Parts: sequence; C-alpha cells; structure tokens
Amino acid sequence: MTFTSDPTTAAQRSAWDVVIIGAGPAGALAALGLSRSGASVLLVEKYDFPREKVCGGCLNGRALGVLESVGLGTLALQAGGTPIESFRLGQGGREWNLKLPAGMAVARGSFDQALVGAAIDSGTSFLPRTEARVASPSREVLRVELEDGRTSRTVEARVVLLATGLSSRGIPGWARPGARIAPRSRIGAGCFLDATSPDYPGGTIHMAVGRDGYVGLIRLADGRLHAAAAIGPTALDGGTGPGPVADRILREAGFPSLGGLQDARWKGTVALTRQTRPLGDHRLLILGDAAGYVEPFTGEGIAWALESGRAIVPVVVRALERWEPSLVDQWGEIHHRLVRHRQSFCRAAAIVLRRPVLVRAAFGAAAWIPGATAQVLQRMNTSRPLVEAS
Ligand SMILES: Cc1cc2nc3c(=O)[nH]c(=O)nc-3n(C[C@H](O)[C@H](O)[C@H](O)COP(=O)(O)OP(=O)(O)OC[C@H]3O[C@@H](n4cnc5c(N)ncnc54)[C@H](O)[C@@H]3O)c2cc1C
Repeated sequence: MTFTSDPTTAAQRSAWDVVIIGAGPAGALAALGLSRSGASVLLVEKYDFPREKVCGGCLNGRALGVLESVGLGTLALQAGGTPIESFRLGQGGREWNLKLPAGMAVARGSFDQALVGAAIDSGTSFLPRTEARVASPSREVLRVELEDGRTSRTVEARVVLLATGLSSRGIPGWARPGARIAPRSRIGAGCFLDATSPDYPGGTIHMAVGRDGYVGLIRLADGRLHAAAAIGPTALDGGTGPGPVADRILREAGFPSLGGLQDARWKGTVALTRQTRPLGDHRLLILGDAAGYVEPFTGEGIAWALESGRAIVPVVVRALERWEPSLVDQWGEIHHRLVRHRQSFCRAAAIVLRRPVLVRAAFGAAAWIPGATAQVLQRMNTSRPLVEAS
C-alpha cells in the first residue's frame, strides 16, 4: 500500500465527478468505493496526514466486517492494530468484565492514513493541508473553494460529499442542512501516555465511569496507553482541564491513578451528540459524524462512518448518472436504517451512564443473563449487508 497521490493532478485539475471533504473513515471509504466505480474523485483534508484525532481507536467487529467486505480485511493489522478481547467497566468501586466477540485497537493516525492510502491506490486524488468550503451551487455543478494557507482556488464537482466529522458547521449561505446539538451534550477529549502501569494491560478496554463522564483506556501495539474521555461541559468550568477531570473519574470508579494523566497533552472536541437534517442539498450528501453522532461509550463511531462510506457509493453513482432531488431523502432513509437506527442503543447507554444506580442494575443484569448480553454484543459487532432504499 502506498501513500502517494499524484500532486499535479490533485492541484491542477479543476473539474471532478466527486469532491469529498474530510479524509476520516467515512470520506476515505467513500472515496475508495467511488474511485473503484470509475468516478474521478478528489479527497480534500484540512490537516497534514498522518494526523491524530480524539478517538478511543477501538474497531469493533462491525468495523472490521465492513473493511473485510471491501477487500481491506488486513488493513487494521497492517496499520499496527492489536486485538481487543475484553471490556472492563469500573464504577463506584465495583468492577464488571465482559468478553468481546471481536475488536482491534488502532492509533487513528496510522489507521486513517492506511485507509487514505487504499483510496489512493484505487485512483483517488488526495489533497492534504487544504480546507474546503462549498461555495455556490449551480444546476449542473457545485463549486468548492480550496484554501491551503497560501493560495485559494475553486474547483467544480458534480457531487460533493461532506464527511467533515463533528466540526461540520453547515454551509455558509445555504439555509440547510444544519446540525442540532443535544442539550447537555458531553465533549470529547483524548491523550496518549507512555505509561507502563501493569494495572492497564493490553487487549482490554478499561472504562471508568464517574459523575462527570467516563474515561476509556486502551494499550496500543507500541506500548502507549491511549485515553479517550467524554466529559460533561460543566466539569470544565473555571478553566479545569480534561486531565484533572479524567483523574477524578478514574478514582471515583475505583481504578488506580495513572501518573502523567493530569499533565498530559489533551486534545478536545466540540459537543458530541448532534443530529443533522436533512442529509444533503442540491448535489450534496452528508455522511459519517457530520450526519449525526451519539456519545462514544459503545465505541461504534468508526463502524458507523465506514458503513455510511460504503453505503453511499451506489447513491452517488446514481447521482452521477442523473441528479434527482429525491436522492437526498433516499440517502436519509438508507442512513437511518444503517446508522441512526443503531445509534438508539448508544443513546440509551448514555442515559444509563448518567445514573449510577442504573449502571449497577444494567451490569448486574448482564452478569445474571449472559445469553442476552452475548446477543447484544453480537448485534453490535455484526456488519449488515448493504441496504438500499426502494
Ligand atoms: C472521545 C471519543 C472517543 C471515541 N472512541 C471511539 C472508539 O473507540 N471507537 C469508535 O469506533 N469510534 C470512537 N469514536 C468516534 C469516532 O472517532 C468517529 O465516529 C469517527 O472518527 C467518524 O469518522 P468521520 O470520517 O465521520 O469523521 P472524522 O474521523 O472526524 O474525519 C473528518 C475529517 O474531516 C476533516 N475536515 C473537517 N472539515 C474540513 C474542511 N472544511 N476541509 C477539509 N477537511 C475537513 C477533519 O480534519 C477530519 O480529518 C470516539 C469519539 C470520541 C470523541
């Protein structure tokens, strides 16, 4: 797998079948599928690659299944992934352990780079360090402004895919679509630690739940510990950083403290739980986190992003044959069945997590009814075949 896109083509060509904004898992997988279908694809990313991202980096069985289905079954391993076998939850000094049917921990920098590399190998042109903005629609094309810090230019696309993650702000000048952010939404935060502590061995997601949110810890193949947290915004009032809050959550959960956690270089996100409606506009479709996201407790965001990146391909192929306004609703329906429908479990988990007594009840029940727990885990980890709107 290589990581060289022809810079001349990406920089000079001014008309594309598809411009995809955002090179996370959703954008990269859509780029790969559309390039394979013969479309000319420009994938634009505002950061230099590889770039890190606030994310636990846990791929569940469903994410691995989508990769397998497009011939990238070994990609996570090649990107330095390491298997995950169990989930350890701590809350109020009690601990529960669940066996997981499948999973792999990856560093998002390497994983996303490998995915973009696979898209490039399929014919995608990649433009990093470039911020894209949908400028103005006309009947046949959309114009997209590309700004790399020194120069700006405009390209045309027959279809634009917005895969810009949580930072999506809608499109200036267009009434829709816009993201509705849930009240009291938590924010995300993450950091890497060179911690050798034997209290947090590899192969396990260590999840501590406290009053102000939760912290997940996973050991990467290179030995570093990756911490990712969802934190209630009021916990950060008065300038408290995520480090001290994460440390408090570990202690409340009864997990051992981790040296360096408080002073680590944490990166934060905007509010996490949000929903975008409708999922597009004229010649524009929205996917991945940009289409809506729910807190990361169940660790499914990458699977949702990959599934939407795979499922959008036939819709865009139809759009390239002939744009119909109804394609936006068709994509909305597919997305609902594939992703939004499944986000409801995660939404329920977020409600439970805010009430310690419910956490104890839920995990107590899980220990008593292992068959039901196994079924839930199996469902969360199974990739669905492609569904299309009728
Ligand atoms: C704390 C936390 C922990 C998480 N843990 C997990 C986990 O363990 N497992 C899991 O499956 N999911 C997890 N997630 C969720 C997961 O990170 C996301 O769901 C996933 O990254 C979504 O992929 P995406 O492609 O939609 O967006 P992203 O991965 O966010 O990619 C969007 C890309 O678009 C680029 N971009 C944005 N605007 C522009 C622009 N104007 N021009 C050019 N480029 C632009 C960004 O730089 C970014 O690279 C977690 C999330 C959080 C916050």
